[in-house]
Amino acid sequence: MRRRVSILFLAAVMILVNIAAPVFAFVLPEGFVYVTDVIETALLDVRYYGNNNFIGTRIDGYEAPTAVLTEEAAAALKVAADILEEQGFYIKVFDAFRPQRAVDHFVRWAQDLDDQKMKELFYPDVDKSKLFELGYIAEKSGHSRGSTVDLTLVEIATGKELDMGSGFDFFGPISHHGTGLITKEQEANRNILRDAMVAAGFAIYPEEWWHYTLKDEPYPDQYFDFPVDIAPDLDEAVRRAIEQARTTMNQDFGGPFGAAIIDADGTILAVASNTVLRDHDPTAHAEVNAIRLAGQIKGTYDLSGCTIYATGYPCPMCLSAIIWANITEVVYGCRPEDAEEIGFRDDFIYRFIEDGRKDSTVLSIAEYGRDQCLELFREYSELEKVIY
Ligand SMILES: [Zn+2]
Repeated sequence: MRRRVSILFLAAVMILVNIAAPVFAFVLPEGFVYVTDVIETALLDVRYYGNNNFIGTRIDGYEAPTAVLTEEAAAALKVAADILEEQGFYIKVFDAFRPQRAVDHFVRWAQDLDDQKMKELFYPDVDKSKLFELGYIAEKSGHSRGSTVDLTLVEIATGKELDMGSGFDFFGPISHHGTGLITKEQEANRNILRDAMVAAGFAIYPEEWWHYTLKDEPYPDQYFDFPVDIAPDLDEAVRRAIEQARTTMNQDFGGPFGAAIIDADGTILAVASNTVLRDHDPTAHAEVNAIRLAGQIKGTYDLSGCTIYATGYPCPMCLSAIIWANITEVVYGCRPEDAEEIGFRDDFIYRFIEDGRKDSTVLSIAEYGRDQCLELFREYSELEKVIY
């Protein structure tokens, strides 16, 4: 609660001090590409973006469920994918470029011997204190050089993953190439992947059947640390937010305000506009309406990873709503002064907050009935509900 209030104040102060052009939009560094832009049939199961990995939580630096490689590695992977598709398989990528901050997260986790949440599934036979010694975790990973990929195969006819004898990131000898612990069929499946990858210019990693590094990698000594993220399609968001706002403003539903919420994977999740007049609802601003819609669609109040686009700089209420929704990226079209020009003002609200909410001509705030309310709070704290 405290933290949120202070963020709101910070936001309020920042807007008063400096409304600069937004520093926004993730851009992939030169020389890197999205795997799915090069290989349209590539399937993704980005394990470090979700919880199904050896740590059991999203890993630092994975901001979107996508896979990034150097241009050279992606081009070579395309060669392998073409070979494999002819044989009836699509590739499924678990991980590709991995930022250094993700590797740092692994290292931090490895040092915390108490956290063994995923032991059963990923390292049942390995003593966690030996992860460094045994080489499962290291301070640096070849993945951070951008030309290493972890992948498996999916049979096109059935849509099923091939049985490789052990799962991705299973720590143990069963994951080694040439292990005697798997069946002939499982070995044959691993070899289908290996033969295509080697033919395309990748080197195997003896300890992990899923891990391949481009032999002639373009950045053999560089470890990168940009996030795995996508640039949301802002042009589409702008177009749809404006279109929605224009429709409702011409129906006299509200002002020229539209908003679009873009999901972490870049799809536009919800588009809404200002409907204050139609709904007799002073809070029915475009951003609030969009957040409500997106929450219903996703079935959660938590819109982490989403970006919101608004046709006008969000008012203090909407900025707060955006923060409550765990959205951390806002992009806007018109500036506050543009809105003021056509009669919409909210600077007095910022000023009221910044001045410590003292101006009683804006709002009088008093305390009353605290004891009864504290009783209610105590009841709540005994329920062990989710705190959001
Ligand atoms: Zn608003």
